[in-house]
Amino acid sequence: MGINAEFTPIISSTHHQAAGRVARLLSHALKAEATIDDVASGFENDLGDLIQSLLRGGHRLSKSDFRRDVKKLIKDWAKQIFNVGWEEGGGDIADIESDDLALLEEFTQEQQGHVNDFSDWLTDKESDLDDVPDRVSLWAESMTNLGQQARARAMGDPSLRFDGDDGEESCEECQEYKGQTHRLSWWEKRDLTKRNGNENYGCKRFDNCHHSFFHARTGEKVID
Ligand SMILES: [Zn+2]
Repeated sequence: MGINAEFTPIISSTHHQAAGRVARLLSHALKAEATIDDVASGFENDLGDLIQSLLRGGHRLSKSDFRRDVKKLIKDWAKQIFNVGWEEGGGDIADIESDDLALLEEFTQEQQGHVNDFSDWLTDKESDLDDVPDRVSLWAESMTNLGQQARARAMGDPSLRFDGDDGEESCEECQEYKGQTHRLSWWEKRDLTKRNGNENYGCKRFDNCHHSFFHARTGEKVID
C-alpha cells in the first residue's frame, strides 16, 4: 500500500471514545483518577493521529515535523504516565527522587531514539502498513511498562515473583527466573523489569513473553 493510498483509520471509534475520557481525566480536577491504562491509550491515540497526518496525501505533516512531534509526544506522555503510575503505587509526587527521574529520562531518550527509524519505516513504499496498529500498540505497551515501573517504585521495594505461562516460546532467561522472588531493586539492578527490547532476555520481553512480576504477598500483578 503506497503512502497516498486511502488509509484505513488505525484508531477505532472505541479508541476515540476512550481518548475523550482520557482528555477529561487529565484535564485537572479528575487527574488523580486517571490510570496507567488511560494514559497509555491517550498516547496511543495521539500517536495514531500523527501517523495518519503523516501518511495522508497533501503533506499535512512533513517527515521532519512528524519526528519532532512524536518525540515531544513521548516526552509529555512519559512524564504523565510516570506520575500517574507513581500515584497508583501510593506515592506522593513530591517524593520522586533523582534516580526515579533517571528512569523516566532513560525511557524517554530510548523511545525517542526509535522515532527516526519508525518514520523511515512508515514512509517506505515496501512497508506493509497493515502492521501499523501492531507497531502503535507496541509503543503504547512500552509506555505502560514505564508507568508500571514507576508504580512499583512508589510501592517501596516490594518483593516480586516472576511468573506466568510459558506460551508458545519461552526463552532461557524466562525459564531461569520463573518462580524466583526478589526485591524490585534486585530485578532492577539486573535490568530485568523493562519490556519490548530488553536485551537481557532471549525473548527480549516482546509480546511473545507471557511472564510478569507479581507482588509476593498479595499476588497482584505489578509489572506486565
Ligand atoms: Zn523470555
